[in-house]
Amino acid sequence: MKNAPGLIHSILTPLLGESVMKTNGKGPALLRLNNQKRVMAQLRKLRVTSRQDLAEALTLSKNTVSLIIDDLLEQGLIEELGPVSVAAAGRPKIGITLRPEKLKSAGVMVERNVIHWRVCDYFSQVLAEATLRTDTRHPTRLLAELAMLCRELTERYPDLLGIGLGFPGIVDPRRGWMHISLPLEWQDVDLLTTLRKHVRLPISIMNNVKAAALLAVGQSGLSPESGHFYLRISEGIGGALVQQGQVFTGHSWTAGEAGHLIVQPGGPRCSCGRRGCLEALVSKPAVNQLLAQHQPGLSWQNRDSAPRVVDTVMAQAGGYLGAALSQIMLLLNPATIIIDCPWNVSERFCKAVRDTAHGNALAFTAAHTQLHFPETRIDPANGLALAVLEQSEQRVG
Ligand SMILES: [Zn+2]
Repeated sequence: MKNAPGLIHSILTPLLGESVMKTNGKGPALLRLNNQKRVMAQLRKLRVTSRQDLAEALTLSKNTVSLIIDDLLEQGLIEELGPVSVAAAGRPKIGITLRPEKLKSAGVMVERNVIHWRVCDYFSQVLAEATLRTDTRHPTRLLAELAMLCRELTERYPDLLGIGLGFPGIVDPRRGWMHISLPLEWQDVDLLTTLRKHVRLPISIMNNVKAAALLAVGQSGLSPESGHFYLRISEGIGGALVQQGQVFTGHSWTAGEAGHLIVQPGGPRCSCGRRGCLEALVSKPAVNQLLAQHQPGLSWQNRDSAPRVVDTVMAQAGGYLGAALSQIMLLLNPATIIIDCPWNVSERFCKAVRDTAHGNALAFTAAHTQLHFPETRIDPANGLALAVLEQSEQRVG
């Protein structure tokens, strides 16, 4: 079947829950829509499966699954791969898989003076991206710029499912409201109302790090039943606990703000105004400042010129992070802590993190918490695009 945008939108609309069926208010139609969403989520998770396996995993009748699969086949959103099992009694299993390029979503990340966007397929693979420098100081101007970008993306990719927009700071994702952003110097900005006026696609709004956490945990193959903590070190430091595929935001959307755990009382001043926060000691600017203090002119960029000084600073930074992680372990008891960080290439850093985290936490807790130091960094724009897909797969009604 040809890739006809109109046709694809006809199935995406129910997938997104902007329900034509709502007007009918029919129970069976809603049930079918939700079953369709569950099938899509399972297809995304498993990549290749069969009608029989879908029916078993989702406890649906084979007939229900077959009807949904026939529908998706007709829309050209999935394809059959041929028999995957012929030995078992009964009908052979025919492998089915999504055609990920048919279902795209976009993630637009705002950072201080930067907009970075990615368009991804249904398997979170990047299809296109760009980074634009801009002045982010004035909310009204930036939101107009974002609305224009969203319109351009919608025109260029008519089969987009939706757009996820991410910001640094305390964001209420339900209201699409920015409470406060230190990097952008914004306070109390209604993001959603302004953007909705100009963007016809579904949009979701969240904090950049929390979107990155969704992706980091989702792609790591970790058990969704356990809680996993993601910590991101960049210009600032943030984190999030992800459990059952959901980000835990807390009562006022600040759960996981590990960057402002105080690890050196009376230490250097943080962007939040207090002293000794993890962010003031281990973020990119903080480490570069430490390197320069040890040896004028030294930075992470030219670290090879003074490896011993770099080792000393990395051991120090690792110690601070380890102290923060031990508190996270004891408070949240996650199964895994994923440390997404430029310093992971330093063995001294990773060792200091491990030693301090284990030394400061209860031995039993530490023994049951895996620390991951991935080499590849997570792009929050990818996480924002993923958040849109997950939103489209959520049950409605
Ligand atoms: Zn702080």
